[in-house]
Amino acid sequence: MPLGSAETILLTQEENKQTDPMFKEVADLSVPMTSLDTPVYPGYPQPLRAIFTTVRDNGYASFIWSFAEHSATHVDSPGHFVEGALTIDKVPIKKYVAKGILLDFTKQAPKYAITRNDISSRLEKSGQNVGLGWMLFFHTGYTSKSLTSEWLNHPQLSDDACKYIVELGVEAVGFDAPGPDYAQFPAHKTLLPKVISIYENLTNLDKLVDKQFLFVGAPIALTGGSAASVRALALVS
Ligand SMILES: [Zn+2]
Repeated sequence: MPLGSAETILLTQEENKQTDPMFKEVADLSVPMTSLDTPVYPGYPQPLRAIFTTVRDNGYASFIWSFAEHSATHVDSPGHFVEGALTIDKVPIKKYVAKGILLDFTKQAPKYAITRNDISSRLEKSGQNVGLGWMLFFHTGYTSKSLTSEWLNHPQLSDDACKYIVELGVEAVGFDAPGPDYAQFPAHKTLLPKVISIYENLTNLDKLVDKQFLFVGAPIALTGGSAASVRALALVS
């Protein structure tokens, strides 16, 4: 059967369905990369997709993409804010896989400053002993507002919250928002030097409410990259 035929595609979908998974659900936490409405931080360019070859003209289709490292769903490395620090390809790969815990911040006022107590009380309620091998996911709901002016009113981490996250010793934090802070980017400057990665522009965190999940968020290995695109997955058990 020729590769890419309609029959092949159907077969692949059927195989996915029949697989007896170790996990009940694999949730996709990534926004699609498009040249139209991919969330990009103010000042950054929209991703571009140019046709390189087509099936009609060349026998095979391929494209050339051009986008900033911080477009769509991505993870920031320490090198984003600290000269000479670990770049995206140098952060140990195991730090991109961890148990996840979802913290609800969907009902906060615009630009709400998340406190140490906000986090600790939610962790206490969860009954989990969160630290090394864990990631904190801040559920704000702001990625769904990415085409509105409200997008940049997302909650932010207070200095005290950042210090608490460092004390916890988690692998990373993730936001369904453009980021964890505003210029001058104090959360980036506190967390990244401690090799606590920051996932930005996640989506579908509502699928993880009251769920236990393993997070897999490996970035492409851009040599010397300050960040890289991630197909972020939650393996829900
Ligand atoms: Zn970023």
